[in-house]
Amino acid sequence: MPELPEVETVRCGLLALVRGRTIAGARIFAPRLRSPLPDLASLIGRRVLDIARRGKFLLWDCAGLILVSHLGMSGSWRVGASGRRHDHVELLFAEGLHLTYHDPRRFGSLMLCRKPDELPALAALGPEPFAAEAWDALRGAAQRRRCAIKALLMDQRVLAGIGNIYASEACFRAGIRPLQPARRLAERRLARLLEATRAVLAEAIAAGGSTIADYRAVNGLSGRFQHAFAVYDRAGQPCRVCGAAIRGRIVAGRSTYWCPRCQR
Ligand SMILES: [Zn+2]
Repeated sequence: MPELPEVETVRCGLLALVRGRTIAGARIFAPRLRSPLPDLASLIGRRVLDIARRGKFLLWDCAGLILVSHLGMSGSWRVGASGRRHDHVELLFAEGLHLTYHDPRRFGSLMLCRKPDELPALAALGPEPFAAEAWDALRGAAQRRRCAIKALLMDQRVLAGIGNIYASEACFRAGIRPLQPARRLAERRLARLLEATRAVLAEAIAAGGSTIADYRAVNGLSGRFQHAFAVYDRAGQPCRVCGAAIRGRIVAGRSTYWCPRCQR
């Protein structure tokens, strides 16, 4: 599932292609993703001024109207006209550029709004992990909540954009067991966790994200950060720091990985 680094990589790829270009057409092939698709005709004739990211959402600034795109589990934007199975939407730009949204598992979404806060999904998001407000948000939530620290990191209302991969990697980097109750962590360790989270996310963005199953950048290239995973998807393999076998367990339906020696 694309997380902050993958969505950021997609954002940069899309922006390089469409910034300043006018949307000349929009075709919908399958009317339903996670929710019904909006009528995209109102985008026609509008210029894409910018594409921003909020958590795992892409916000296309189309001169007064915002196209909000969430990639869900398997969504991708690719250059080229549609024609493949699971192509849902095609945007046609002046000068003949086609962009197609493809989503086999259909957990993604496309929405239209005039202001981001109009959409409950965006209004509910916590701060970006790199924002100055992130520390207060994380510390406040950790004091209140009984849940495991990894679950807290993945809660989009606390910090936006982090999923299972980067929460697992950040916990390793900070030396914290992912199943530790958030409330029991000393403030010093929580501060180290935010620092580790930012470092892992920044490295993953620089590597173009992680490709586990089907994530690709807009140019079709895979990410490279999966080669740098310390714990994620490495159960039974030796820890890169101490050599102990990485543990893996399913907790609340999500796979969780940690090093029994490096993480306390
Ligand atoms: Zn270790």
